[in-house]
Amino acid sequence: MTLEPQSGLFADASLRLEKALQYVTLPEDALEYLRHPKSSLSVSIPVRMDNGSLQVFQGYRVRYDDTRGPTKGGVRYHPKVSLDEVQSLAFWMTFKCAVLNLPFGGGKGGITLDPKALSKMELERLSRGYIDAIADFIGPDVDILAPDVYTNPMIMGWMMDQYNVIQRKITRAVVTGKPLAMGGSEGRDEATGVGAFMVIETIAPKLGLVPAETTVAIQGFGNAGSILAIQLWKAGYRIVAVSDSQGGIYSAQGLDIPSIQYQKESTRRLQAVYCDGSVCSVVDHQAISNEDLLKLEVDILIPAALENQITEANADQIKAKYIFEVANGPITSAADTILDRKGIVVFPDILVNAGGVTVSYFEWVQNRSGLYWSEEEVQQQLQKRMVKATEDLWHLAQKKAISIRTAGYVLALERIGEAIAVKGTRDYYVRA
Ligand code: GLU
Repeated sequence: MTLEPQSGLFADASLRLEKALQYVTLPEDALEYLRHPKSSLSVSIPVRMDNGSLQVFQGYRVRYDDTRGPTKGGVRYHPKVSLDEVQSLAFWMTFKCAVLNLPFGGGKGGITLDPKALSKMELERLSRGYIDAIADFIGPDVDILAPDVYTNPMIMGWMMDQYNVIQRKITRAVVTGKPLAMGGSEGRDEATGVGAFMVIETIAPKLGLVPAETTVAIQGFGNAGSILAIQLWKAGYRIVAVSDSQGGIYSAQGLDIPSIQYQKESTRRLQAVYCDGSVCSVVDHQAISNEDLLKLEVDILIPAALENQITEANADQIKAKYIFEVANGPITSAADTILDRKGIVVFPDILVNAGGVTVSYFEWVQNRSGLYWSEEEVQQQLQKRMVKATEDLWHLAQKKAISIRTAGYVLALERIGEAIAVKGTRDYYVRA
Protein backbone atom coordinates (compact mmCIF):
# COMPACT_ATOMS: atom_id res chain seq x y z
CA MET A 1 0.00 0.00 0.00
CA THR A 2 1.29 3.48 -0.74
CA LEU A 3 0.62 6.61 1.23
CA GLU A 4 -1.76 9.24 -0.09
CA PRO A 5 0.04 12.20 -1.68
CA GLN A 6 -0.38 15.33 0.44
CA SER A 7 1.58 18.53 0.80
CA GLY A 8 3.45 19.87 3.82
CA LEU A 9 6.16 18.70 6.20
CA PHE A 10 4.21 15.72 7.48
CA ALA A 11 3.48 14.48 3.97
CA ASP A 12 7.19 14.73 3.19
CA ALA A 13 8.12 12.92 6.42
CA SER A 14 5.67 10.13 5.55
CA LEU A 15 7.50 9.50 2.27
CA ARG A 16 10.37 8.02 4.29
CA LEU A 17 7.95 5.37 5.54
CA GLU A 18 6.94 4.48 2.03
CA LYS A 19 10.57 4.06 0.99
CA ALA A 20 11.34 1.79 3.95
CA LEU A 21 8.28 -0.39 3.30
CA GLN A 22 10.03 -1.93 0.31
CA TYR A 23 12.48 -3.57 2.70
CA VAL A 24 10.24 -4.72 5.52
CA THR A 25 7.15 -6.88 5.64
CA LEU A 26 4.63 -5.09 7.78
CA PRO A 27 1.06 -6.21 8.41
CA GLU A 28 -1.36 -3.96 6.55
CA ASP A 29 -3.01 -3.05 9.89
CA ALA A 30 0.26 -1.84 11.35
CA LEU A 31 0.87 0.47 8.42
CA GLU A 32 -2.67 1.80 8.57
CA TYR A 33 -2.08 2.74 12.23
CA LEU A 34 1.21 4.42 11.46
CA ARG A 35 -0.29 6.63 8.77
CA HIS A 36 -2.22 8.67 11.34
CA PRO A 37 -1.37 10.39 14.62
CA LYS A 38 -3.19 8.83 17.57
CA SER A 39 -4.33 12.24 18.77
CA SER A 40 -3.70 15.88 17.85
CA LEU A 41 -4.66 18.49 20.37
CA SER A 42 -4.89 22.19 19.52
CA VAL A 43 -5.31 24.60 22.43
CA SER A 44 -5.70 28.35 23.00
CA ILE A 45 -3.62 29.62 25.91
CA PRO A 46 -4.69 32.94 27.44
CA VAL A 47 -1.78 34.80 29.04
CA ARG A 48 -1.90 37.97 31.15
CA MET A 49 0.96 40.08 29.79
CA ASP A 50 3.13 42.34 31.96
CA ASN A 51 1.29 45.46 30.68
CA GLY A 52 -2.05 44.07 31.89
CA SER A 53 -3.37 43.10 28.45
CA LEU A 54 -4.54 39.59 27.59
CA GLN A 55 -2.95 37.68 24.73
CA VAL A 56 -4.04 34.27 23.49
CA PHE A 57 -1.34 31.91 22.14
CA GLN A 58 -1.85 28.83 19.99
CA GLY A 59 -0.44 25.56 21.35
CA TYR A 60 -0.37 21.93 20.22
CA ARG A 61 0.35 18.48 21.57
CA VAL A 62 0.40 15.48 19.25
CA ARG A 63 0.67 11.87 20.41
CA TYR A 64 1.69 10.00 17.30
CA ASP A 65 1.87 6.35 18.34
CA ASP A 66 2.00 4.65 21.74
CA THR A 67 2.29 0.99 20.75
CA ARG A 68 5.74 0.65 22.34
CA GLY A 69 5.03 2.76 25.42
CA PRO A 70 3.86 6.18 26.59
CA THR A 71 4.44 8.90 24.02
CA LYS A 72 7.58 10.97 24.53
CA GLY A 73 8.79 14.20 23.05
CA GLY A 74 9.71 17.83 23.47
CA VAL A 75 7.81 21.10 23.42
CA ARG A 76 8.99 23.75 20.94
CA TYR A 77 8.55 27.52 21.30
CA HIS A 78 8.97 29.15 17.89
CA PRO A 79 7.13 31.59 15.58
CA LYS A 80 6.87 28.89 12.88
CA VAL A 81 5.26 26.21 15.07
CA SER A 82 2.17 24.73 13.34
CA LEU A 83 0.12 21.57 13.71
CA ASP A 84 1.78 20.16 10.57
CA GLU A 85 5.23 20.70 12.08
CA VAL A 86 4.33 19.27 15.50
CA GLN A 87 2.76 16.23 13.85
CA SER A 88 5.93 15.63 11.81
CA LEU A 89 8.11 16.01 14.89
CA ALA A 90 5.89 13.52 16.79
CA PHE A 91 6.17 11.11 13.85
CA TRP A 92 9.98 11.35 13.95
CA MET A 93 9.97 10.81 17.74
CA THR A 94 8.07 7.53 17.21
CA PHE A 95 10.81 6.20 14.95
CA LYS A 96 13.65 7.70 17.00
CA CYS A 97 12.49 5.97 20.20
CA ALA A 98 12.14 2.67 18.31
CA VAL A 99 15.64 2.97 16.76
CA LEU A 100 17.11 3.43 20.25
CA ASN A 101 14.84 0.65 21.53
CA LEU A 102 13.41 2.90 24.25
CA PRO A 103 10.06 1.80 25.73
CA PHE A 104 8.32 4.89 24.35
CA GLY A 105 6.11 5.97 21.49
CA GLY A 106 6.43 9.39 19.87
CA GLY A 107 4.87 12.71 20.83
CA LYS A 108 5.60 16.40 20.42
CA GLY A 109 4.25 19.77 21.45
CA GLY A 110 4.70 23.39 20.55
CA ILE A 111 3.50 26.93 21.01
CA THR A 112 3.53 29.48 18.19
CA LEU A 113 5.36 32.55 19.48
CA ASP A 114 8.58 34.52 19.36
CA PRO A 115 9.91 33.47 22.78
CA LYS A 116 12.50 36.25 22.84
CA ALA A 117 9.69 38.85 22.75
CA LEU A 118 8.28 37.68 26.11
CA SER A 119 9.56 38.55 29.58
CA LYS A 120 10.56 35.75 31.93
CA MET A 121 7.32 36.16 33.93
CA GLU A 122 5.23 36.09 30.75
CA LEU A 123 7.02 32.92 29.65
CA GLU A 124 6.30 31.32 33.01
CA ARG A 125 2.59 32.20 32.79
CA LEU A 126 2.49 30.87 29.21
CA SER A 127 4.23 27.61 30.17
CA ARG A 128 1.88 27.04 33.09
CA GLY A 129 -1.11 27.93 30.88
CA TYR A 130 0.02 25.32 28.35
CA ILE A 131 0.02 22.66 31.08
CA ASP A 132 -3.42 23.81 32.29
CA ALA A 133 -4.66 23.25 28.73
CA ILE A 134 -3.15 19.79 28.17
CA ALA A 135 -2.98 18.33 31.72
CA ASP A 136 -5.72 15.76 31.09
CA PHE A 137 -3.77 14.31 28.17
CA ILE A 138 -0.30 13.89 29.69
CA GLY A 139 1.26 11.87 32.54
CA PRO A 140 4.25 9.61 33.28
CA ASP A 141 2.42 6.61 31.77
CA VAL A 142 0.64 8.52 29.03
CA ASP A 143 2.70 11.31 27.45
CA ILE A 144 5.95 12.78 28.77
CA LEU A 145 7.21 16.27 27.90
CA ALA A 146 10.79 17.49 27.36
CA PRO A 147 12.75 20.48 26.01
CA ASP A 148 13.09 21.23 22.31
CA VAL A 149 13.90 24.39 20.30
CA TYR A 150 13.82 27.46 22.64
CA THR A 151 12.66 25.54 25.71
CA ASN A 152 15.06 24.73 28.53
CA PRO A 153 15.32 23.17 32.03
CA MET A 154 13.79 26.25 33.68
CA ILE A 155 10.69 26.01 31.47
CA MET A 156 10.49 22.24 32.10
CA GLY A 157 10.60 22.96 35.84
CA TRP A 158 7.64 25.34 35.56
CA MET A 159 5.72 22.75 33.54
CA MET A 160 6.32 19.96 36.04
CA ASP A 161 5.39 22.24 38.93
CA GLN A 162 2.12 23.26 37.26
CA TYR A 163 1.24 19.62 36.63
CA ASN A 164 1.89 18.90 40.31
CA VAL A 165 -0.31 21.83 41.37
CA ILE A 166 -3.16 20.42 39.25
CA GLN A 167 -2.66 16.83 40.47
CA ARG A 168 -2.05 17.90 44.11
CA LYS A 169 0.91 15.51 44.32
CA ILE A 170 4.53 15.35 43.17
CA THR A 171 4.78 13.58 39.82
CA ARG A 172 8.31 14.14 38.54
CA ALA A 173 8.30 11.71 35.63
CA VAL A 174 5.73 13.68 33.61
CA VAL A 175 8.43 16.02 32.30
CA THR A 176 12.12 15.35 31.56
CA GLY A 177 14.95 17.80 31.05
CA LYS A 178 14.12 19.40 34.40
CA PRO A 179 16.62 21.28 36.57
CA LEU A 180 18.69 18.93 38.76
CA ALA A 181 17.12 20.37 41.91
CA MET A 182 13.67 19.27 40.67
CA GLY A 183 14.63 15.70 39.85
CA GLY A 184 16.43 16.26 36.56
CA SER A 185 19.18 13.91 35.40
CA GLU A 186 22.88 14.52 35.29
CA GLY A 187 23.94 14.95 31.67
CA ARG A 188 20.48 15.66 30.21
CA ASP A 189 21.21 19.23 29.16
CA GLU A 190 24.23 18.20 27.07
CA ALA A 191 22.82 14.84 25.96
CA THR A 192 21.82 15.70 22.37
CA GLY A 193 25.24 17.16 21.50
CA VAL A 194 27.14 14.46 23.40
CA GLY A 195 25.05 11.69 21.80
CA ALA A 196 25.72 13.12 18.32
CA PHE A 197 29.44 13.15 19.11
CA MET A 198 29.25 9.47 20.12
CA VAL A 199 27.64 8.65 16.75
CA ILE A 200 30.38 10.52 14.86
CA GLU A 201 33.11 8.84 16.91
CA THR A 202 31.60 5.41 16.16
CA ILE A 203 31.34 6.13 12.44
CA ALA A 204 34.63 8.04 11.87
CA PRO A 205 36.94 4.98 11.85
CA LYS A 206 34.59 3.18 9.42
CA LEU A 207 34.88 6.12 7.03
CA GLY A 208 38.61 6.46 7.59
CA LEU A 209 38.20 9.95 9.07
CA VAL A 210 41.08 11.22 11.19
CA PRO A 211 40.02 14.21 13.38
CA ALA A 212 42.98 16.49 12.60
CA GLU A 213 42.40 16.10 8.87
CA THR A 214 38.60 16.37 9.01
CA THR A 215 36.86 19.69 8.34
CA VAL A 216 33.44 20.37 9.83
CA ALA A 217 30.74 23.04 9.31
CA ILE A 218 27.93 23.39 11.85
CA GLN A 219 24.67 25.23 11.16
CA GLY A 220 23.09 26.16 14.51
CA PHE A 221 24.88 27.05 17.74
CA GLY A 222 22.09 26.29 20.20
CA ASN A 223 22.04 23.66 22.91
CA ALA A 224 22.84 20.75 20.58
CA GLY A 225 25.11 22.46 18.03
CA SER A 226 27.32 24.28 20.55
CA ILE A 227 27.87 21.23 22.79
CA LEU A 228 28.72 19.09 19.77
CA ALA A 229 31.08 21.80 18.49
CA ILE A 230 32.99 21.76 21.78
CA GLN A 231 33.21 17.96 21.80
CA LEU A 232 34.49 17.85 18.21
CA TRP A 233 36.96 20.68 18.86
CA LYS A 234 38.33 18.88 21.93
CA ALA A 235 38.74 15.69 19.88
CA GLY A 236 40.83 17.65 17.35
CA TYR A 237 38.39 18.12 14.46
CA ARG A 238 38.86 21.31 12.38
CA ILE A 239 35.62 23.26 12.65
CA VAL A 240 35.77 25.80 9.84
CA ALA A 241 32.31 27.36 10.17
CA VAL A 242 29.53 27.79 12.70
CA SER A 243 26.34 29.84 12.52
CA ASP A 244 23.20 30.78 14.41
CA SER A 245 19.96 32.43 13.32
CA GLN A 246 21.80 35.77 12.84
CA GLY A 247 24.45 34.40 10.46
CA GLY A 248 27.78 32.61 10.63
CA ILE A 249 31.55 32.85 10.83
CA TYR A 250 34.17 31.06 8.77
CA SER A 251 37.90 30.38 9.04
CA ALA A 252 39.76 27.96 6.75
CA GLN A 253 42.32 27.33 9.53
CA GLY A 254 39.61 26.33 11.98
CA LEU A 255 37.70 28.32 14.60
CA ASP A 256 38.51 28.53 18.29
CA ILE A 257 35.21 27.11 19.53
CA PRO A 258 35.65 27.73 23.30
CA SER A 259 36.17 31.45 22.72
CA ILE A 260 33.07 31.61 20.50
CA GLN A 261 31.07 29.88 23.17
CA TYR A 262 32.46 32.22 25.81
CA GLN A 263 31.52 35.20 23.65
CA LYS A 264 27.96 33.95 23.25
CA GLU A 265 27.60 33.20 26.93
CA SER A 266 29.12 36.44 28.16
CA THR A 267 26.67 38.54 26.17
CA ARG A 268 23.79 36.79 27.88
CA ARG A 269 21.82 39.46 29.67
CA LEU A 270 21.52 39.12 33.42
CA GLN A 271 18.17 37.49 34.22
CA ALA A 272 17.40 36.81 30.55
CA VAL A 273 15.97 33.46 29.52
CA TYR A 274 17.77 33.31 26.18
CA CYS A 275 21.27 34.09 25.05
CA ASP A 276 21.23 37.43 23.24
CA GLY A 277 24.68 37.24 21.69
CA SER A 278 25.27 35.91 18.21
CA VAL A 279 28.30 34.02 16.92
CA CYS A 280 28.57 36.92 14.46
CA SER A 281 29.66 39.24 17.27
CA VAL A 282 32.99 37.41 17.61
CA VAL A 283 35.80 39.61 16.29
CA ASP A 284 38.34 38.70 13.59
CA HIS A 285 36.32 36.44 11.40
CA GLN A 286 35.01 36.10 7.91
CA ALA A 287 31.22 36.32 7.79
CA ILE A 288 29.23 33.59 6.08
CA SER A 289 25.48 33.27 5.56
CA ASN A 290 23.55 30.24 6.75
CA GLU A 291 22.82 29.33 3.15
CA ASP A 292 26.51 29.52 2.10
CA LEU A 293 27.64 27.54 5.14
CA LEU A 294 25.61 24.59 3.86
CA LYS A 295 27.46 24.73 0.52
CA LEU A 296 31.00 24.65 1.95
CA GLU A 297 33.40 22.02 0.72
CA VAL A 298 33.90 20.19 4.02
CA ASP A 299 34.17 16.59 5.11
CA ILE A 300 31.31 16.79 7.60
CA LEU A 301 28.28 19.08 7.45
CA ILE A 302 26.10 19.28 10.55
CA PRO A 303 22.68 20.92 10.24
CA ALA A 304 21.77 21.59 13.89
CA ALA A 305 19.08 24.26 13.55
CA LEU A 306 15.61 23.72 12.07
CA GLU A 307 13.92 21.51 9.48
CA ASN A 308 13.86 22.02 5.69
CA GLN A 309 17.37 23.45 5.28
CA ILE A 310 18.54 21.22 2.45
CA THR A 311 15.83 20.99 -0.17
CA GLU A 312 15.47 20.38 -3.89
CA ALA A 313 16.55 24.01 -4.38
CA ASN A 314 20.06 23.69 -2.90
CA ALA A 315 20.83 19.95 -2.62
CA ASP A 316 22.76 20.01 -5.89
CA GLN A 317 25.15 22.60 -4.46
CA ILE A 318 26.04 20.66 -1.30
CA LYS A 319 29.72 19.69 -1.39
CA ALA A 320 30.16 17.97 1.98
CA LYS A 321 31.09 14.27 1.98
CA TYR A 322 29.02 13.33 5.02
CA ILE A 323 26.03 14.93 6.71
CA PHE A 324 25.04 14.26 10.31
CA GLU A 325 21.51 15.55 11.03
CA VAL A 326 21.44 17.02 14.53
CA ALA A 327 18.28 19.04 13.83
CA ASN A 328 15.03 17.17 13.26
CA GLY A 329 14.14 16.97 9.56
CA PRO A 330 16.77 19.33 8.06
CA ILE A 331 16.76 17.46 4.71
CA THR A 332 13.60 16.96 2.62
CA SER A 333 12.94 13.60 1.00
CA ALA A 334 13.47 15.08 -2.49
CA ALA A 335 16.86 16.43 -1.37
CA ASP A 336 17.71 13.00 0.04
CA THR A 337 17.43 11.53 -3.45
CA ILE A 338 19.73 14.22 -4.92
CA LEU A 339 22.33 13.81 -2.15
CA ASP A 340 22.23 10.06 -2.61
CA ARG A 341 22.88 10.46 -6.34
CA LYS A 342 25.84 12.70 -5.55
CA GLY A 343 27.25 10.03 -3.21
CA ILE A 344 26.84 12.16 -0.08
CA VAL A 345 26.23 9.90 2.91
CA VAL A 346 23.57 11.12 5.35
CA PHE A 347 23.35 10.00 8.97
CA PRO A 348 19.72 10.65 9.96
CA ASP A 349 18.15 12.65 12.78
CA ILE A 350 16.37 9.60 14.22
CA LEU A 351 19.83 8.28 15.13
CA VAL A 352 22.14 11.27 15.42
CA ASN A 353 20.06 13.46 17.76
CA ALA A 354 18.64 10.61 19.83
CA GLY A 355 20.97 11.27 22.78
CA GLY A 356 18.47 13.79 24.17
CA VAL A 357 15.53 11.44 24.39
CA THR A 358 17.78 8.63 25.58
CA VAL A 359 18.89 10.59 28.65
CA SER A 360 15.25 11.71 29.04
CA TYR A 361 14.48 8.00 29.34
CA PHE A 362 17.17 7.70 32.03
CA GLU A 363 15.62 10.69 33.84
CA TRP A 364 12.16 9.06 33.71
CA VAL A 365 13.65 5.81 35.08
CA GLN A 366 15.44 7.68 37.89
CA ASN A 367 12.27 9.62 38.80
CA ARG A 368 10.25 6.43 39.01
CA SER A 369 12.83 4.42 40.96
CA GLY A 370 13.87 7.30 43.22
CA LEU A 371 17.51 6.29 42.75
CA TYR A 372 19.70 8.88 41.03
CA TRP A 373 22.69 8.12 38.81
CA SER A 374 26.10 9.75 38.71
CA GLU A 375 27.16 11.73 35.64
CA GLU A 376 29.59 8.90 34.82
CA GLU A 377 26.82 6.30 34.94
CA VAL A 378 24.64 8.40 32.60
CA GLN A 379 27.52 8.79 30.10
CA GLN A 380 28.30 5.06 30.16
CA GLN A 381 24.67 4.08 29.58
CA LEU A 382 24.28 6.70 26.85
CA GLN A 383 27.47 5.56 25.13
CA LYS A 384 26.29 1.95 25.17
CA ARG A 385 22.95 2.78 23.57
CA MET A 386 24.25 5.27 20.99
CA VAL A 387 27.03 2.93 19.84
CA LYS A 388 24.63 -0.03 19.61
CA ALA A 389 22.06 1.91 17.55
CA THR A 390 24.79 3.30 15.26
CA GLU A 391 26.28 -0.16 14.68
CA ASP A 392 22.80 -1.66 14.13
CA LEU A 393 21.91 0.86 11.42
CA TRP A 394 25.35 0.75 9.79
CA HIS A 395 25.23 -3.04 9.44
CA LEU A 396 21.58 -3.14 8.36
CA ALA A 397 22.30 -0.52 5.68
CA GLN A 398 25.23 -2.57 4.39
CA LYS A 399 23.31 -5.85 4.49
CA LYS A 400 20.31 -4.52 2.56
CA ALA A 401 22.29 -2.00 0.44
CA ILE A 402 20.08 0.88 1.61
CA SER A 403 20.74 4.33 3.09
CA ILE A 404 21.32 4.67 6.83
CA ARG A 405 18.06 6.62 7.03
CA THR A 406 16.06 3.86 5.37
CA ALA A 407 17.81 1.35 7.64
CA GLY A 408 16.59 3.41 10.62
CA TYR A 409 13.01 3.28 9.41
CA VAL A 410 13.28 -0.44 8.61
CA LEU A 411 14.59 -1.28 12.09
CA ALA A 412 11.98 0.93 13.76
CA LEU A 413 9.17 -0.49 11.62
CA GLU A 414 10.19 -4.04 12.50
CA ARG A 415 10.07 -3.16 16.21
CA ILE A 416 6.79 -1.22 16.03
CA GLY A 417 5.22 -3.82 13.73
CA GLU A 418 6.12 -6.59 16.15
CA ALA A 419 4.61 -4.65 19.06
CA ILE A 420 1.38 -4.11 17.11
CA ALA A 421 1.25 -7.79 16.14
CA VAL A 422 1.75 -9.17 19.67
CA LYS A 423 -1.09 -7.02 20.98
CA GLY A 424 -3.43 -9.61 19.51
CA THR A 425 -6.83 -9.03 17.98
CA ARG A 426 -8.32 -6.48 20.36
CA ASP A 427 -7.55 -3.74 17.88
CA TYR A 428 -9.84 -5.47 15.40
CA TYR A 429 -12.64 -3.86 17.40
CA VAL A 430 -11.25 -0.78 19.06
CA ARG A 431 -7.99 1.14 19.20
CA ALA A 432 -7.10 1.76 22.83
N1 GLU B 1 13.31 17.41 21.77
C1 GLU B 1 14.26 16.34 21.75
C2 GLU B 1 14.13 15.54 20.46
O1 GLU B 1 13.65 16.02 19.47
C3 GLU B 1 14.22 15.50 23.00
C4 GLU B 1 12.92 14.79 23.28
C5 GLU B 1 12.85 14.16 24.66
O2 GLU B 1 13.81 14.22 25.40
O3 GLU B 1 11.80 13.59 24.94
O4 GLU B 1 14.58 14.43 20.39
